[in-house]
This record gives sequence, C-alpha cells and structure tokens, in this order.
Amino acid sequence: MTSNLHDLPLRTVDPEIADAIDDETRRQAGGLELIASENFVSEAVLQAMGSVFTNKYAEGYPGRRYYGGCEFSDVAESLAIDRAKKLFGAEHVNVQPHSGAQANMAVYLAMLRPGDTILGMDLAHGGHLTHGHPLNFSGKYFQVVGYGVDPERERIDYDALEQKAREHRPRMIVCGASAYPRVIDFERIAAIARSVDALTMADIAHIAGFVATGLHPSPVPHVDFVTTTTHKTLRGPRGGLILCKEKFAKPINSAVFPGVQGGPLVHIIAAKSVCLLEALQPAFKDYQLQTLANANALGDAMVEAGFRLVSGGTDNHIVLVDVFSKGITGKVAEKALEAAKITVNKNAIPFDKNPPLVASGVRMGSPALTTRGMKEWEMRQIAAWIAEVLDQPESETVRSSVRERVSQLAAKFPLYPTRLAVQVRKEASR
Ligand SMILES: *Cc1c(COP(=O)(O)O)cnc(C)c1O
Repeated sequence: MTSNLHDLPLRTVDPEIADAIDDETRRQAGGLELIASENFVSEAVLQAMGSVFTNKYAEGYPGRRYYGGCEFSDVAESLAIDRAKKLFGAEHVNVQPHSGAQANMAVYLAMLRPGDTILGMDLAHGGHLTHGHPLNFSGKYFQVVGYGVDPERERIDYDALEQKAREHRPRMIVCGASAYPRVIDFERIAAIARSVDALTMADIAHIAGFVATGLHPSPVPHVDFVTTTTHKTLRGPRGGLILCKEKFAKPINSAVFPGVQGGPLVHIIAAKSVCLLEALQPAFKDYQLQTLANANALGDAMVEAGFRLVSGGTDNHIVLVDVFSKGITGKVAEKALEAAKITVNKNAIPFDKNPPLVASGVRMGSPALTTRGMKEWEMRQIAAWIAEVLDQPESETVRSSVRERVSQLAAKFPLYPTRLAVQVRKEASR
C-alpha cells in the first residue's frame, strides 16, 4: 500500500531532521544561552509558526491581495498591524519584512537612490552590517560615512556625529546598534538629521522590548523610520517590522512588496501577532525589567571577577566584556565557554587591537535566561563560572566541571517541557 506522506509525522518521514530538532531542543534546554540577540519564544508563538498559513500566498496587503482565499491571512496581518501600532504608538506599520535586514533594505529602497550618502554607526563600534558595511548591500550601493564612540567613555560621540553630518550632508542618518550597551539618544540624532535635511532611521532590533515597554526612550515620535527584528528582546518569531509616519506608508509598503519581497510569510506574521499580543500584557514589562536587572547583575559580577566592561557597565540587556583585558581573545573565550555549555559570541570592541574573527570582546545578553525564569542570583553564579572557565580556557577539567554545574542549573529552569516529554516517550518506546 502506498502511504500518503502528507499524513505521516515528521519522525516517520524524515528521521534525520526529527533527530536534529530533538537534539536542538535538548541543547537549548540543557545549556545556558547568553547570546544577546537570542530568546525563547512561547509555545503559542511556536504553534502559530508551525501552522497551515505557511501554505498561503498573500502578495499585497489586507483587503488588497493579488490572490484569492486571503480572508484569514487578512485577519492575521490586520491583528499584527493593529497590535504593533498600539504597542509602539506608530502611525503606520508594515509587518511583512522577513528579517531585520530586509526591513532596513526596504527603507533604503523607498527613500534612497544608489550613490546617496548614509551616515551609520561603524560595525566595530556596535553598529550592524546593514548600516553600511562594505560587504553588505548597504555598503555596496551607498556612500557610507561611519560614526562611533569616543575612546574614553565608549559612548556614542554625538558631537562628532553632528560634525560628520554637517561635513558630508548625508541623505539619511542610521542609528541603532547590535553591540552597544548604553541608552541611545534618538531625539538628539533626529534633531541633528533635521538640521542637515537628512532623514533618520532608528533600527531598534536589539532593544525593541524595552522601547515597547517604556524602558528605553522611544525613537517613534522623533525619527522618520523605525525598523526592528521581532525575535530579540521582543521575543517573537524571526522577522522584521517597519514603523513610520502615515505620510511614508505608501513608499514603505511598495518597497517591501513588490520592492524587495514577494509573498509574505503569513505563518510568521500570525506568530508576530501572537508575540505582539504577549508584549501588550503587563507581565511583559516585568520580564523586561528583570532582563535589565539580570544584565546589570551579570555585568557587576564580571567586573568583580576582574574583567573590564566596554563603557564600564550596561543600561540594557547587553554586557560587552573586554576579555583581552585578562589576556584572552574573544575567539578563545567563545570556544572555551561553548565547551562548558555556555553560549556567547565573540565580538569586536571599539578600537579593537585584534582582527574581527579573533576579537577582544565577548558579547553577553540576559534576554534568553530571563525568559527561563533566572534572576540576579543565577546571573552572579553564571558569571563566576564564566570567570572560572576563562581563567584556564584550555583546561578540560575545568570545562567539564563547569559543564556539570551548568546542566544542573539548567535542569531547574525547564524549557519547552512538553516537547521534551514527547521525545522521552518516543525514546522509551523505541
Ligand atoms: C539583528 C539586527 C539586524 C538584523 O536582523 P536579521 O533578522 O538577522 O536580518 C538588523 N539591525 C540590527 C541593529 C540588529 O541587531
């Protein structure tokens, strides 16, 4: 009898991928996730992502589609738009960008012409590839002028930024960062942009959760465009959003589709709706407050262990540790910690003496562990273990001893318990 593959479970159809997913679930649950750009979505978000909306073509926008059968896609997308407007106080929202990079690309396509000048934060000082890096489309199609932090305080040098804006007269100033632990003065950057007739785009990919809950000053009232990812502090599915004034609605919508994308990912948009609903609940602000408290505790404990923090501390979820201050490179630190089941990423620090693939820094973030329910006590504990590993980065004895303690701590903060329980049953029945 020929079976209809459509009705069979993943494990039957593709055991290799089923194994990879099970292994990944166990990896996420069994280790300590300190990558600042990662988080753990809710079961509800996962379910929406894994829904039949993945089957649907819905080019266009709610009520104006190029395909039939879009009435429920319209429901999902309209909910996402309304919730995002409410959450961020935005006049217009586009929820279709497949990622943060595509959100930025759409804004550039809508407002810039190839060869225009953009003023963006240097990658080495905490900016993002899409803010003008030479290997990214933003660096290939536009003239890029970079700004950064001052060498003493390691905070954005707004005076130098202003000077560069006057000198180079950019068409757009891009602000926002991927590895900057301090508050960004969006209002001041927007005022600088206005004074030189430039547009402003604020990319809040990392700090969207704080902006949404009033814990970081919002750029929405000040800048022309706000872009974000939905999967970092916002704790939704991988994806992007664009927020702007109503007067830019048309060019932004047509830049996303048909400008840089075809059909939207309706299943992801449905999951964005769920994430935005979650973010509108009072508990989401408590989560963001704890994320801040945890980053602070982690940073303080790293300082007590003798490490230097870039800018001396943190105002957000990011702790940028200068591990070279203790003589090890970011690359060595990342590897050693990974062996102890603590995941971080090596990161360049401002004025880095090491090349990017080696790097002097390690970027750590508190969003994921805070989602698991960990608090300041656990952060201090984890910082002590990190210091222990980095004290003897090559020692297998230290690594395995810390790995053991990591596993015990992780087990006390269950992650996706129902998914793991299903796996255990499967294994028992084999
Ligand atoms: C993460 C990030 C992005 C890109 O997001 P992707 O979804 O990975 O494309 C863009 N800008 C900033 C500042 C980021 O931190």
